[in-house]
Amino acid sequence: MRTAIISDIHGNLDALEAVLAEIDGRGVDQIVCLGDIIGYGPNPLECLDRVAERCQFALMGNHDFAVLFEPTSFNTSAEQAAFWTRRQLEEEPDDEARQRRWSYLGGLVVRKWQGGTLWVHASPRRPINEYIFPDDVVSAPGKMQTIFDRIRQRCYVGHTHVPGVFTDEPDFYPPADLGGRYKFDPGEKAIINPGSVGQPRDRDPRASFAVLTHAEPLETQGEAPPEDAGPDEIEFVRVDYDIESVVRKIAAQPDLSNFLGERLRDGR
Ligand code: ZN
Repeated sequence: MRTAIISDIHGNLDALEAVLAEIDGRGVDQIVCLGDIIGYGPNPLECLDRVAERCQFALMGNHDFAVLFEPTSFNTSAEQAAFWTRRQLEEEPDDEARQRRWSYLGGLVVRKWQGGTLWVHASPRRPINEYIFPDDVVSAPGKMQTIFDRIRQRCYVGHTHVPGVFTDEPDFYPPADLGGRYKFDPGEKAIINPGSVGQPRDRDPRASFAVLTHAEPLETQGEAPPEDAGPDEIEFVRVDYDIESVVRKIAAQPDLSNFLGERLRDGR
């Protein structure tokens, strides 16, 4: 089976459409979204609709939470974008569409277990808003230890917008150090971040996502795998999209800071 993992779309429809087209060309069985569907970007409504249509399930990100409830410890441009996004949802004239989007947003899952796999937006300890940074493996090994203690086998997170694999030494491997792929040992614990579709921050401006190839459905993982099953493997994928189109759409909205567009050019 193949599961595409997307995260941190942030209202960037151009990036999301490019990623979905790439996914469709790869014969993927299902798509999972790790949250932050909205916030920052110019097309929140369309992104919510596409995720609702295409994803098996989606997690609650801190920006989804901020639009639904209230932003907490956001900087000015992020807070302004959250209020702007909320207005787009509220001003939808079609009653049915407005209510459908609000209830989808309100129904996003905070934490989901499937066999040995844990899905969260941010971290197993604080699923909506704790960052797991690559530097933590050096500067905060105690934090990494307590996070790994909460994992049975694998945990998928977004939130930092930086793709890669954390192992429990602890260590961090960006996709470039892995040749873009990582094979899991059966008993190994790992935390995997697919990077961000709509606002990458690893200095590569292309949209980022990952494809997991697994022998058995995730729900039953941890039970005996089929005899001929190869090891599960994660592949990190980057996709070009029309960044300038998004920069222009952000520039046209006075309540969205131009910085939110400019940072897309550099992937920061
Ligand atoms: Zn995010």
